[in-house]
Amino acid sequence: MGGMDFSRRDFLRGAGAVGLASGAFGIFGGAGLAFADDTAASEEAVNAYQAIVPDETSLLSPKKVACPGPRGPIAFEDREIAPSEIASTEECDVLVIGAGIAGLTASLKAAEEGASVICIEKMTKGRGCFECFGAYDAQCQKDAGVQVDPAQLLDEIYRSAYWRTRPEPARTYVFRSGEATDFWQQMLDKGENGFVITKVEQAPNTNGMPMIDSELGFYDSPSLPPDAGVRSGLSGIYVCREMAEIAKQYDALDIRYSTPGVQLVRDGEGRVTGVVAKSGEEYIRINASKGVILATGSYDANPEMMEAWVRPEDYATSSWWNPGWGTTGDGHMMGLKIGAGMDSLPHPVMNFRWGNPDSFYDARVWTAIWLAINVNAQGNRYVNEDLPFQSVSNAQNAQPGFGANCWQIFDDGMLGASEEEVAGAKAAMDEFIEKGWAFSASSPRELAEKCGIDPDGLEQTVTTWNAYWNDKKDRDFNRFMESTAPFAGETIYALTTNSCILATGGGLTIDGACRVLDTDDAVIEGLYAVGNVSGSFFAGNYPRHIPGTSIGRAITFGFVAAEHAVKGA
Ligand SMILES: Cc1cc2nc3c(=O)[nH]c(=O)nc-3n(C[C@H](O)[C@H](O)[C@H](O)COP(=O)(O)OP(=O)(O)OC[C@H]3O[C@@H](n4cnc5c(N)ncnc54)[C@H](O)[C@@H]3O)c2cc1C
Repeated sequence: MGGMDFSRRDFLRGAGAVGLASGAFGIFGGAGLAFADDTAASEEAVNAYQAIVPDETSLLSPKKVACPGPRGPIAFEDREIAPSEIASTEECDVLVIGAGIAGLTASLKAAEEGASVICIEKMTKGRGCFECFGAYDAQCQKDAGVQVDPAQLLDEIYRSAYWRTRPEPARTYVFRSGEATDFWQQMLDKGENGFVITKVEQAPNTNGMPMIDSELGFYDSPSLPPDAGVRSGLSGIYVCREMAEIAKQYDALDIRYSTPGVQLVRDGEGRVTGVVAKSGEEYIRINASKGVILATGSYDANPEMMEAWVRPEDYATSSWWNPGWGTTGDGHMMGLKIGAGMDSLPHPVMNFRWGNPDSFYDARVWTAIWLAINVNAQGNRYVNEDLPFQSVSNAQNAQPGFGANCWQIFDDGMLGASEEEVAGAKAAMDEFIEKGWAFSASSPRELAEKCGIDPDGLEQTVTTWNAYWNDKKDRDFNRFMESTAPFAGETIYALTTNSCILATGGGLTIDGACRVLDTDDAVIEGLYAVGNVSGSFFAGNYPRHIPGTSIGRAITFGFVAAEHAVKGA
């Protein structure tokens, strides 16, 4: 792992082992395992728990699995960098590490507040992936007459974490997201391309999840290409590019690309005062008098970290979609290195359905996928296919082989509502058959044999599905049958399905002002974490049924952290 000397054991120790040890003492206090103040004995106790499972078993999951995902360039260095190695030193008020959406928002907000700002980005461009996001009480929502109950939104965020989080960061998101959205629009108004944030209409939910009407997006922006709405993440790339252009209007804001942050610098009292970064082959030091904002994103492009910190089923059979591989968890490591706390393991992964072996299926087969039933290698359905992307993906990953050999089954009566749509779907299916991602046949049995599904299982499942459709009752998963279709066509298709990884969602613990907390819950002065490097918000899962909490959180926390750094509480 280029430039990094931090073992798997350190990952575990940093995040989980302390909690494991103290939990054990609580339960077995008198069992003679160890005393809380006896470090050697406590290490032994932890090892005893580790030793109880076989070698091929990890502490986090039933089975270890190598992560097949991309490997980005890691910038964090876990070594003493001597003052003699520093080629130059610079000063600013606020230093932002990472020029994704959270970092760009933080940089613009700090600059707007009058601070001198340096934003360093490891890659040649910052990452920007989104189509939509969620907010509460933004001006555009008021203009559109949107009614969102903030108590319901908050409750749903807590519920999705099964109350394993603290309320402060969620409250910050809900009650500051409107202001942050208005600020975002105000910034975009300075750009040349007329980006406009507007309400996204959401269909009523038929899956039992509440419908929270807080979704916003950029679909009404005149400069977006017409297909941006259907190509996942594309609008975000354009919006972030515009924000980077707007940043040039601020004399005191300097965004530097190909400048990775390597480690944090603290003074004698423990306050974070700056960062050591790399510029070309040289180390440079940048001092920040008002604060350092970590905005380094996820660690989806760090396979070892994925193996250490997330569930194996969440990556084992996935593809990845991301236009840049800078998200290697550098900010997590920088924080842990100086004693920051972190969300408990395993961390949530934003893993969505609709994945194909390359990335996501495109719009040509969307109707077919909506109407399809999903089956595993036994030919059995495993989920209500109407559930949000994340839920379907989780259910798929729970199938044998971590979701390997799962299929979307539909027939030629489900390809589309118009002749044009059907023709597009057929052309797409020819392409996918050619790639080995799809098969067609004249019966479920023949189809199953072609794609390695149990033929009896698939035949039975299709028959059962048609019976459920006739009764308008899905007795297995309670899918809303009014918007489904029976298998009545001449050709039946199987289209392969896997999860697609977008990001990770666990990070450094923060308070309501996005200040990073240490493992004793004390504020680490001078250090903030925003976006996906921040924690204390999600637990166990990314709740896709709540509109865009990921981007909503990123812009809100970027806004709040910058404001706090410049103006104080
Ligand atoms: C295809 C796709 C579609 C998505 N759609 C949505 C959506 O519609 N709504 C939604 O809410 N979420 C969506 N997401 C998730 C969303 O993109 C992320 O959650 C969000 O971008 C996180 O923002 P961030 O600023 O924290 O991190 P990022 O946007 O990942 O930015 C982090 C930046 O930090 C840089 N960096 C990392 N390490 C260093 C270092 N050491 N020094 C300097 N720079 C560093 C990285 O290169 C990167 O540019 C989507 C993701 C994908 C992949």
